[in-house]
Amino acid sequence: MNIVYLSLGTNLGDKEKNLKDALSQIQRRIGTIKAKSAFIETQPWGFESDNNFLNAAVKVETILEPMTLLDECQLIEKTMGRAKKSVNGVYKDRIIDIDILMYYKDGDISGDGIHINTPRLTIPHPLMNERDFVLIPLKQIL
Ligand code: ADP
Ligand code: MG
Repeated sequence: MNIVYLSLGTNLGDKEKNLKDALSQIQRRIGTIKAKSAFIETQPWGFESDNNFLNAAVKVETILEPMTLLDECQLIEKTMGRAKKSVNGVYKDRIIDIDILMYYKDGDISGDGIHINTPRLTIPHPLMNERDFVLIPLKQIL
């Protein structure tokens, strides 16, 4: 089994419900949730908005390979009604964002896990260490 850490964020609609819906989809489509952070409220990062975020992080046991995992995360975003992607690093309000932070293959939990650098997927997530809204929930479940 592989262990992955995912970051979740939402700043539109019923945010608590959005996170709960995303968690149940993660459990259904990705794997068993082994640990879950509190939901924390944060200010928008990298763009202006009146809508604060609700963020969380989860640790999930999964058989999915990294690319398939990304496909599933994006499918969940889509089925929950997220229309637009961030373009050229310009961030927007969103119903749900699910990012892959770290991926530990076959239960090998050394260091920060596997490293991937492709146009579609970078693991560990390159900006995670700059973002309190990622690090604060992550620290609760490491
Ligand atoms: P952001 O999460 O930065 O607000 P998006 O969710 O719109 O923006 O993602 C933009 C792109 O980032 C996605 O299309 C995806 O291919 C890419 N990406 C690269 N690395 C990762 C990762 N570790 N987790 C999630 N998406 C990633
Ligand atoms: Mg994302």
